Amino acid sequence: MARDGLADSPPAAVREDPMTTTLITNISALVTNDPAREGDSPLGTVESAAVVIEGEHIVWTGRAQDAPAADTVHDAAGRAAVPGFVDSHSHLVFAGDRTAEFNARMSGAPYRAGGIRTTVAATRAASDAELEAGLTRYLDEALRQGTTVMETKSGYGLTVADEARALELAARHTDEVTYLGAHVVAPEYADDPGGYVDLVTGPMLDACAPHARWVDVFCERGAFDGDQARAVLTAGIAKGLTPRVHANQLGHGPGVRLAVELGAASADHCTHLTDADIDALAGGDTVATLLPGAEFSTRAPWPDARRLLDAGVTVALSTDCNPGSSFTSSMPFCIALAVRDMGMTPHEALWAATAGGARALRRTDVGRIAPGSRADLVLLDAPSPVHLAYRPGVPLVTDVWRRGVKEK
Ligand SMILES: [Zn+2]
Repeated sequence: MARDGLADSPPAAVREDPMTTTLITNISALVTNDPAREGDSPLGTVESAAVVIEGEHIVWTGRAQDAPAADTVHDAAGRAAVPGFVDSHSHLVFAGDRTAEFNARMSGAPYRAGGIRTTVAATRAASDAELEAGLTRYLDEALRQGTTVMETKSGYGLTVADEARALELAARHTDEVTYLGAHVVAPEYADDPGGYVDLVTGPMLDACAPHARWVDVFCERGAFDGDQARAVLTAGIAKGLTPRVHANQLGHGPGVRLAVELGAASADHCTHLTDADIDALAGGDTVATLLPGAEFSTRAPWPDARRLLDAGVTVALSTDCNPGSSFTSSMPFCIALAVRDMGMTPHEALWAATAGGARALRRTDVGRIAPGSRADLVLLDAPSPVHLAYRPGVPLVTDVWRRGVKEK
């Protein structure tokens, strides 16, 4: 970059630090997800590749032999490079532990939505510092496994004050914050679910909306029915939030079609779908976000990703990281499950865990490695990104850049 003399420099008070450039070279296979490189595959893979980062952004991608000079050089030593994972669905503001429940379930007891109330009691009793320590612990854990964008939700407070504090804490650590006051009916309202919906769509929403970008509802038997879910989402929309929906996880229901009708960014879970649900998703802008960690951890039937993809639906993969039904923060694990058990190819699963997650969060600056995108990049101790599914459970992520900063 040309910097020719003090005369042209702005005053010191407004001058930005000169941005250094970093060349990452000797990449065996670079997955860009760059629409400009889309050929046979939306992954837009470049062999024998290099990347240049300037400040927080990618400024160049291409063949290593064509790479421009940079201030510093990082030798990828023949590793594959992929965009940082975009985990568009997690529940990380919580306290307590549900080991006993998992142990019981793996010993034969079924999963029920009511187990959430165990975490609600522990979360209400926790201090802000305890909740924030847990949140940052899981965000760091995810980052070390390659996740550079993570959405997270409230939903374990279920009072005005406890939901607002969960969102305030979340907003300190991620831009992708979701108001989920309608996770389950608060125990105080067990005999008056309508009264709880009034709270969620009234005073609780007023307190929470300033801290959130999204509004979500668990539309499921045992949680909120279609009319209640519609009331929650439309109230959120009126406050400037964009909807996303926990839909069709435990059985058939109205969640997916409601999500599409209201223009939700994503319908999450999508485990039990009718043909009408698939048609609705295929005809709308709503992403189907699949959360295989939940099926794994509850021994439930897998969502049929192949059926969705063949119908032309955009699919994202996410962890659903939460202490009850899916206590994993590992996107590589979810990729492996999606390939092994949900009919996705390794390339489709990788796209869904990166570009698909970005689509589910309506972001174009992440989930890809392309000039102008955020410099979120992961190196794998493997010559091919297929190893993410081929070598399940193996810690392949060796290096992580987020916003141009090497975090691992
Ligand atoms: Zn969830």
